[in-house]
Amino acid sequence: MILTSKKPQEEVLASLQDSGTIFVIGCASCAARSKTGDQKAVDDMKELLLSKGKQVAGTLVLPAACNLQTVEKYLAKNEDFAKADAVLILACGTGVQTVGDIFPQKTIAAGLNSICISTSGSQNKRFCSVCGHCVLSFTQGLCQKTRCPKGLVNGPCGGFVGGKCEVDDKQDCVWVLIYEKLKKHGKADEFIKSFISPL
Ligand code: SF4
Ligand code: SF4
Repeated sequence: MILTSKKPQEEVLASLQDSGTIFVIGCASCAARSKTGDQKAVDDMKELLLSKGKQVAGTLVLPAACNLQTVEKYLAKNEDFAKADAVLILACGTGVQTVGDIFPQKTIAAGLNSICISTSGSQNKRFCSVCGHCVLSFTQGLCQKTRCPKGLVNGPCGGFVGGKCEVDDKQDCVWVLIYEKLKKHGKADEFIKSFISPL
C-alpha cells in the first residue's frame, strides 16, 4: 500500500491554471485508505474547483487507479470523461501515470503526494518512488524521478540516442517522452517547468 497526502490547494489550482473542463478521479484502493482519494475527498475537490470558477465535467472513484484494465474499463466509455480537457487524479504516482499512459490526449494533474510504502498489502509501485512531492502535473504524468536510471530531476543528461536512454537502450529516455508529450499538448515551452518542482 502507498500512503498519500493531499497537495496544498494552491498547488493543485496552479497546476490547473490553464485547463478547461476538468474530470476528477479518486481511488478506492490505497488513496481511500489514506482518506485522500475516497468519495469525500473527490466531492471536496469538486466543490473547491467549482468555487474557484472551474468547470467540472464529472467525477469518478476508480476501484484501483494503478490497474490498467480497471482504468480502461471505467473511463474509455465514460461520456463525462470524454468531454474533459484535463484530469485531476487523487491517487498515488502510479495511479496518475497509469491514467496518463492510457489517455495521453488529456492534460494530467496530480492532486496527491506519495509519501510512504506501507508494509501491509501489495501494490504496483513500478513507476513511483514515493518521493513525497509529486511533480507529475508538470511532466504530463511521466515520472522522471523513477524512470531515469540516473534519477535526474533537472533535465536530460544529453546522452540519449534516437530517443533511447544511454544507460539502457531498450528503454525510451523519459525526458524525451516528457518533451514529446508536452509538445503534443502545445506546451513545449513549458518543458523547463518539469526540471524542478516550482513549489
Ligand atoms: S514524482 Fe514520481 S516518485 Fe514522486 S510521487 Fe510522483 S510518481 Fe512518485
Ligand atoms: S538518456 Fe535520458 S533517461 Fe537515460 S540517463 Fe540520460 S536523461 Fe536519464
